[in-house]
Amino acid sequence: MRHWLKSDPIVIVAGRGAVLRDDQGRQYLDANSSIWTNLHGHRHPAINAAIRRQLGKIAHSSALGLANEPASLLAAKLAALAGYSKKHTLARVFFSDDGSTAMEAALKMAHQFALRTGRCRRPKFLSLQRAYHGDTVGAVSLGHIDLFHKAYGGLLFKTDIAPAPFCYRCPFNRARPQRADARLYRQCQWECAGVLEQKFAAQSKKGEPYAAFVFEPLIQGAAGMAPQPDGWLARAAHIARRHGALLIADEVLTGFGRAGPLFACQKESVAPDLMALAKGMTGGYLPMGATLATRPIFNAFLGRHDEFKTFFHGHSYTANQLGAAASLASLRLLQSPASFRARNLLQEALAEALQTLWPLPNVGDIRQVGLIAGVELVADWRTRRPFAPRQRMGARVCEAMARRGVLTRPIGDVIVLMPPYCTTSAQVERMVAVLRQSIEDQTLKKPTLESLS
Ligand SMILES: *Cc1c(COP(=O)(O)O)cnc(C)c1O
Repeated sequence: MRHWLKSDPIVIVAGRGAVLRDDQGRQYLDANSSIWTNLHGHRHPAINAAIRRQLGKIAHSSALGLANEPASLLAAKLAALAGYSKKHTLARVFFSDDGSTAMEAALKMAHQFALRTGRCRRPKFLSLQRAYHGDTVGAVSLGHIDLFHKAYGGLLFKTDIAPAPFCYRCPFNRARPQRADARLYRQCQWECAGVLEQKFAAQSKKGEPYAAFVFEPLIQGAAGMAPQPDGWLARAAHIARRHGALLIADEVLTGFGRAGPLFACQKESVAPDLMALAKGMTGGYLPMGATLATRPIFNAFLGRHDEFKTFFHGHSYTANQLGAAASLASLRLLQSPASFRARNLLQEALAEALQTLWPLPNVGDIRQVGLIAGVELVADWRTRRPFAPRQRMGARVCEAMARRGVLTRPIGDVIVLMPPYCTTSAQVERMVAVLRQSIEDQTLKKPTLESLS
């Protein structure tokens, strides 16, 4: 905050497509899709029109004991898109306000389900190392990023930590790095999945399974864009199922095509029991989240009035009509062949442009899953030694990018590129070129005292 108070903030006043404009008339490319939310670009005519149409009817009425048209249509659509088979469907939808509340709801549902079905007497949760599931207290309890979560230790309930793959810094030294030192590494034998199996087995020995296994599928975002190697997700889900745990997929980041398929779990045919959605759900227009659940979970909340089996959780703006209208319009765009083609082309253009960064000595790793990319900067690529935190390397590179007209935010020293789906090849090349120039001038330049404070 001290740094922020000394600086002049960029004040955004308008946007169109992948471009943002500030109050000085300067233009920027929105290289992280406004913190991972925007899908089709700003001021999209179809989403704007849908919201205007809805405004002509009503902006909001309570969903507590009432239904409304756009939210009901949206629930049906989400359930249809996220289903797998007749047998396994995420047939029920609970709306909330954002990713944190969507995860909070999933957590409470799994907790109650475990108790009511008698599977657990003291429901315990297993979530991944470096996990991030949001900032409310339940979601933070599931998270395992010390920098974000440690400060709240006294407020949280205990959850167990499962090993998560992170090939660039593989603790078993089995990664397959792109660089010349590949011969130092032996082939991966899924050691990390083996440790996961042991974790489940140890819990089973205690007489009751985990209530749920909680994961971000395909890539852990806030962990620094840490992708799971192909096949890990299916393995992990299989292990969890075999040990009787529910699967809670946090698709808040990965959903709606961001990681490639419509939902990341589909890539490895993993069928979760609960799925949390938010971020891209309204195309990046309005805050809205959803928790999708299977019928058996929903049924655990049915009963006579005086049994009080209701899911006691609800928000004032649940199932907001404007958000639902935006979301329906966004889903229509997302499912069009044109959007599908554009996403594929953009994904290739991004991959190709990122290759140009490998020769830079301070680029340690380049990671991409779908339209999510992270470039990890290191002091020494041979040893993978990070920069000292006081050098603020990630932040400085992003500040240099902003001066050149490209906006994003770092996670430590990982620079995130996550373009809106409407980004052109020329724009994505420009994002990467600006990243390259900014890495070059920040890593060659001796930091000034000013930039460090
Ligand atoms: C952003 C994020 C959340 C939290 O979503 P909010 O809308 O910011 O509350 C939860 N899980 C994942 C994986 C996220 O990336």
